[in-house]
Amino acid sequence: MTSTTEKTPVLIAGGGPVGLAVAGDLGWRGIPCIVIEKGDGSVNQPKMDLLGLRTMEFCRRWGIVDWVENAGYERDHPQDCVYLSALSGGFEFGRDFFPNPCDEVCPPQSPQHRERQPQNFFDPVIARFARQFAHVDVRYHTEMLGFEEHAGGVRAEVRNIQSGKITVIEASYLAGCDGGGSVVRAKLGVKLPDSAVLTYTTNAIFRCAGFWKLVDKKPGYRFIFIGPEGTWATIVAINGRDEYRFSFVGDGNKRALTEPELREAIKKAVGRDFDFEILSTMPWIRREYVADSYGTERVFLIGDAAHLNSPTGAFGMNTGMQDAVDISWKLEAAVRGWGGPKLLQSYGAERRPVALRNVKEATANLKRMMSTREKKPPKEIFENGPAGDRAREIFGAEYMDMMKQEWFTLGIHLGYWYENSPVIVPDGTPQPPDEVMTYTQTARPGSRAPHVWLAPGKSTLDLFGKGFVLLRFSTEADANPMLVAAKAKGVPMHLEDINQPDAATAYGRKLVIVRPDGHVAWRGDHLPPDCAATIDILRGA
Ligand SMILES: Cc1cc2nc3c(=O)[nH]c(=O)nc-3n(C[C@H](O)[C@H](O)[C@H](O)COP(=O)(O)OP(=O)(O)OC[C@H]3O[C@@H](n4cnc5c(N)ncnc54)[C@H](O)[C@@H]3O)c2cc1C
Repeated sequence: MTSTTEKTPVLIAGGGPVGLAVAGDLGWRGIPCIVIEKGDGSVNQPKMDLLGLRTMEFCRRWGIVDWVENAGYERDHPQDCVYLSALSGGFEFGRDFFPNPCDEVCPPQSPQHRERQPQNFFDPVIARFARQFAHVDVRYHTEMLGFEEHAGGVRAEVRNIQSGKITVIEASYLAGCDGGGSVVRAKLGVKLPDSAVLTYTTNAIFRCAGFWKLVDKKPGYRFIFIGPEGTWATIVAINGRDEYRFSFVGDGNKRALTEPELREAIKKAVGRDFDFEILSTMPWIRREYVADSYGTERVFLIGDAAHLNSPTGAFGMNTGMQDAVDISWKLEAAVRGWGGPKLLQSYGAERRPVALRNVKEATANLKRMMSTREKKPPKEIFENGPAGDRAREIFGAEYMDMMKQEWFTLGIHLGYWYENSPVIVPDGTPQPPDEVMTYTQTARPGSRAPHVWLAPGKSTLDLFGKGFVLLRFSTEADANPMLVAAKAKGVPMHLEDINQPDAATAYGRKLVIVRPDGHVAWRGDHLPPDCAATIDILRGA
């Protein structure tokens, strides 16, 4: 088959949610890129379904919140998490109540709230966002065959699966967003060890109209099934109407359930025979993994290519979205020429510790959910009568209490920071406690810049995204030398005066520099003596 050669500043391997986010954010910044995706863009086994707060803050920045809200999930479907033995005829041990998506309110720390949109609804939204930019070229049915990195860039070979045509793409940078089985990662020689396996799980998406009329439990979002053997399966409402995802959790022994086995397991969880259609099945391996290296000078691992975790907690794609927003502005800086050599290298230095933290927490959530396997539930909880009722009350309360750390994760989604980053100037204040369930906003350098409402519908976060922003909370502070120093190095930076005491308190200093990704890079009550040196640190010179 004949081959042609093309050129692009950034080639993105993999058009899953993370690859499309990198493409969309680059497109939004005016940087051309090509995305190659071996699939056709449709998702028949939605994995991710919870968009965390930070992801929604990115969607706000991109102007696509209403696209997300209207993507397809039934927004008045109940979101309770329920612990039970069976949906019909079984016992309910506990129920954590959550608002329906349409009733979610924003926490004080964010202008957004989390959203429920499984990947079959969300991927088309993020694809639409990326593809609206004429300079973003998304090519489906196209696979990455391999690449060579050289001093000036990356030479990749890609193949159109339908026509067989091979194209050579010369790119300045390659973003490896090709998921858990990453070809880019393998080519870089970054290992995915066997020890990373947590469970061999099988999922099935099934459809059943009128499901809630067949069972005696009230609707909810997630159902965790606990039998005498411990926690064994989950069902989640995948569209809030008639589709559900069943997961046979499995264990460390290699096993994939056949479709007849899945049918039996689904009936066992539902507690009765009923008519349903299995739309798709997916055996998958739950892993705890963070790549040793996040890439080279010109090739980067992003999203699941760089880290894999148990879905318990919904951290996988959300962590990948943060990766995407971290690398994208650095790629822009490199392509436009104002980024120094250390800027792209800071991607791994900043993001890898966050992945280590999130992956560990996801495994801890899995262990909590599965703790009933080691310490079996009391047998009385499966028996009728007052003794059973009492045992269920105690067991349910304990299990609910334990599961809270998986459901309330504000600290994981917002409270990550970039300690020891080579492109952040520390201010000498001590590291805050690493919170999981709660989050105390801080503008300590490295942290996500705090949200404060500046006017109805206008958050401080709405100021950030394109270029650096120098926030000034007192007009007495001289900001000009920093703006001049930035301009001299071609670094985009503008001044925002904020005259609002609550914002000044949240940011803690008179002058604060916020990066394009919305993280604080520097703060002080006065400018440093050598602004040019500070600008050089921030741009990775
Ligand atoms: C059951 C389950 C539930 C989950 N729930 C959540 C959740 O609620 N929230 C959350 O944040 N995360 C969740 N996750 C994790 C989440 O789905 C992943 O983290 C996310 O899909 C990663 O996105 P990605 O784009 O990095 O990789 P992927 O989604 O794997 O996309 C990679 C893409 O690359 C393409 N590709 C691969 N190789 C090539 C090649 N050689 N050439 C071209 N294209 C290629 C693939 O076709 C694919 O489209 C869940 C995971 C599972 C299994």
